[in-house]
Amino acid sequence: MSISENLEKILNTLPASVKLVAVSKFKPEQDIAEAYANGQRIFGESRALELRDKYNNLPKDIEWHFIGHLQTNKIKYIIPFVSLIHSVDSVGLLKEIDAYAKKAGRVVECLIQVHISQEETKFGFSYEECVELFNNYDSLELENVKIVGLMGMATNTDDMEQVRLEFKSLKSLYDRLNTEKKLGFSVLSMGMSSDYELAIKEGSTMVRIGSSIFGSR
Ligand SMILES: *Cc1c(COP(=O)(O)O)cnc(C)c1O
Repeated sequence: MSISENLEKILNTLPASVKLVAVSKFKPEQDIAEAYANGQRIFGESRALELRDKYNNLPKDIEWHFIGHLQTNKIKYIIPFVSLIHSVDSVGLLKEIDAYAKKAGRVVECLIQVHISQEETKFGFSYEECVELFNNYDSLELENVKIVGLMGMATNTDDMEQVRLEFKSLKSLYDRLNTEKKLGFSVLSMGMSSDYELAIKEGSTMVRIGSSIFGSR
């Protein structure tokens, strides 16, 4: 199937309230251009320099999301234009993003990445660290970042009950923080090619889909 057929098939199954981030990492610009020609405007990338190059070469009304681990020394490459950083995985990174955003004269929207999977290698805040972040949030005095929600990646497993529980617990943390702290969250980013339907059932508002659109990497 072609990129446009894949895209159409996925868009037909998404509720109108769920946004699709087309994950184009490691894929050539012509693949992005094909999805763009079919109306897709939100793309996700996981490498800062690759993202910068694609931004420079592709239409300017694309909304670029950063979804990978962001190294401090690479923030400067994406800060002038990035629409949403899904993968803020430490307080230090949050402070650095704030400083660069200030220099760029922007307010940059971010999600806090929460470690929900059983895997040790994935980045992110634990539940406890995430709660603590929002308990102390005002003292950080961040003026140029706006946290609009949470992101999580489930365990890469065939055990869909496990995956469901991980999504459920992230959704419940999201609701709890949002209610108790009046954070005005609007984005719960969860679900990839293998598990996005389940993620939507569990309350996702934004799915990040790569291989089901562009083919395997
Ligand atoms: C690569 C990636 C995706 C997309 O994964 P697919 O399985 O190809 O849909 C989603 N989220 C993050 C954080 C990724 O790194």
